[in-house]
Amino acid sequence: MNAVDRLVLPLDVPTLADARPWLDKLAGDVGVFKVGLELFTAEGPQALAEVHSHGARSFLDLKLHDIPATMARATTAAVAQKAAYLTVHAAAGPTALRAVAEAARGSSTQVLAVTVLTSMSDDDLHATGVAGVLAEVVLQRAEMALDAGIDGFVCSPLECAALRGRLGRDVTLVVPGIRPSGSEVDDQTRNATPADAIRNGADLLVVGRPIRNAHDPVAAARAIVDEIARTT
Ligand code: C5P
Repeated sequence: MNAVDRLVLPLDVPTLADARPWLDKLAGDVGVFKVGLELFTAEGPQALAEVHSHGARSFLDLKLHDIPATMARATTAAVAQKAAYLTVHAAAGPTALRAVAEAARGSSTQVLAVTVLTSMSDDDLHATGVAGVLAEVVLQRAEMALDAGIDGFVCSPLECAALRGRLGRDVTLVVPGIRPSGSEVDDQTRNATPADAIRNGADLLVVGRPIRNAHDPVAAARAIVDEIARTT
């Protein structure tokens, strides 16, 4: 994979009218654009079509969590819309994950699982009825999801090395919380530089505010792509 295709920009905006200027400006320097709950709820599949019409790949970040049949049918719809990546919750369980993996099999859509949301603390996790230490629950869910046929995971930069070590080279690891040295940390307490994340085994880096809030977003994206290329 070349370095541009490893950079993911989240389109964390409410409408396509807000997303288009970012696509116009950054397609070519960013290989993948992430469409999340906000934009997809507002605009639907048109948001993915717009990404594709700019020559980029789409990342449909819906974090599906439902009964197996519903998750499988939603996966079939994402495959039909040619999403390059689709996210689901590992907590949906092995039967649902196997159904999702089956629905995506042979397609160009990779299914990625979220193990435990990085916004959850140990206390939050316990309050939902899950016992155990958060870091162990992450590894347990990841192994379960991989066994069910999931292609990869979204993980914090701090979990990346452990997941890579435990799950091997074939699994895709997508890492948000990236902060180039010298940029604002914002609300990302568990962050890493692009080079550190790559060294820890990340395949794709999700970078939002450090690019969107930069004085020159194109230069910021290019600097990250250069850093990825230099580190690999
Ligand atoms: O602006 P920033 O670089 O922090 O954006 C990170 C993106 O990654 C946002 O779209 C955010 O929702 C997403 N994300 C995250 N942490 C996770 C999973 C997704 O920051 N654990």
